[in-house]
Amino acid sequence: MAIKDQYSLMRLSKTRLLNGLQCKKRLWLEVYKPHLAEAAAGSAAIIQTGIEVGTLAQSVLAPGGRLIDRHSQQALDDTRAELAKNPRSALYEATFEADDVMVRTDLLWPEGERYRIVEVKSSSRVKKHYLADCAIQWWVLQGAGYQPQTISIAHINKQFMLDSAPEDASYDGLFALADLTEQVADVLPEVSAWVAQAKSVIASDQPVIAMGPQCNKPHSCPFIMHCSSGTPVIERAISKFPSLKINSRHELIAEGYQDIGDVPDERAAQLAELRQPDERERWEAARQGKAWYSSQLSGILGALEYPRYYLDFESISFTVPRWPGTQPFEHLPFQWSVHIEQRSGKLDHDEFLDVSGKPPMRALTEAMISCLGNTGPIIVFTSYERTRLRELAKRYPDLSEALQAIIERLFDLHPVLKHHYYHPEQNGSFSIKSILPCVLDDSEINYQALEGVRDGLAAQHAYLEAINPDTSAERREEIRRQLLEYCKLDTLAPLKIINTLQQ
Ligand code: SF4
Repeated sequence: MAIKDQYSLMRLSKTRLLNGLQCKKRLWLEVYKPHLAEAAAGSAAIIQTGIEVGTLAQSVLAPGGRLIDRHSQQALDDTRAELAKNPRSALYEATFEADDVMVRTDLLWPEGERYRIVEVKSSSRVKKHYLADCAIQWWVLQGAGYQPQTISIAHINKQFMLDSAPEDASYDGLFALADLTEQVADVLPEVSAWVAQAKSVIASDQPVIAMGPQCNKPHSCPFIMHCSSGTPVIERAISKFPSLKINSRHELIAEGYQDIGDVPDERAAQLAELRQPDERERWEAARQGKAWYSSQLSGILGALEYPRYYLDFESISFTVPRWPGTQPFEHLPFQWSVHIEQRSGKLDHDEFLDVSGKPPMRALTEAMISCLGNTGPIIVFTSYERTRLRELAKRYPDLSEALQAIIERLFDLHPVLKHHYYHPEQNGSFSIKSILPCVLDDSEINYQALEGVRDGLAAQHAYLEAINPDTSAERREEIRRQLLEYCKLDTLAPLKIINTLQQ
């Protein structure tokens, strides 16, 4: 039997069917070339959170249910047997099949002759693409002879607050239920066509599909690296030039221009965004592959008083809250770094990090207030620190006056660079890690030379590993050191950028 015929005979999972709706090529590659997929950074943590949320939903929403813990044909057999034996009990992961499509329902309750389905999601709201997910489940149950009564999404209720330590806490109220039964009825007639299309994709040669918005919608596709390999890199891409509005970018691209250098002067002169002299200079510098500085940049940076404080936070957010008084998805700081620069050039550094696993926010706030003194600008990059400081002021009313005084001293470097600096090698990005190599030599600051933790996402994963009780003391100490080194660079980088650009 030919390989394609064998695949044509296999079952389709709900996930494959949904991925085929995102992109037929994605479905084909998943079946025939899965080794080309590259997991996105953080996907293991997302899967882990999904498991944690799913297990909690079982005990909170359907206590006492029974788990179908085997797979494929055995799961189908177990589900049928359980429903025949106990027609009134809830089932977790009940499994059904119709027309070679197999689905597992997160939570299922028999209700008379019908069934109530709940799909559990780790998000804080109902997203548009959940509808297809629910419609496929309904279609399969119906096709398998188990008529659904209702289908709902259980998502995380952002207003939920943990009232005590997790081992004593009640998680009632963590989930909000949204009934999608009516919306599912509207799309149900389309499901047969989705299934037929997926089967036809699998039975055919690889579809030819250009990359486009579907590559990141509704999920980032794991084949992006594969599909984009061989695509020529445009060095001064019009699509990335920051001053152009989206309409102007689309117009230029529709006229056949991809690179800033290809746009004739007369055409550039027609662009309203380039009428400001500064913007026209930025455009010209980008055409020549050079850095652009506005005439005001050096003055703005030179006006910063001393001592200058450079502040950066690292924070963690839990889908299921772990610390009393916290809510889902809250950003909870666990670390800060501060560099203090005197006019003489003298540099001091201070830092805070708590990897004990206990709530670090109070001690972190008190130590930061005492480190930041009473005068001098506090330089941050983006509004992230400002938002965290406001949240801390709300959490600790007795510290809010001191925190408000800190907020008033903040100086955000990010918008300043956005308006007054550009290098085409930033490729449209104004993240500190994109600007840094344009302003400084690699030998001065190099995130890639760090061990283990090189970006904010890695810092969050490292912190989670450090506070895990199963992590050894040696490993915890190693993570602690890596986190401290990483956060220290995050405050040294803006300091070096300012000192270089000020000149
Ligand atoms: S990267 Fe884009 S074009 Fe390629 S398979 Fe994924 S969604 Fe399809």
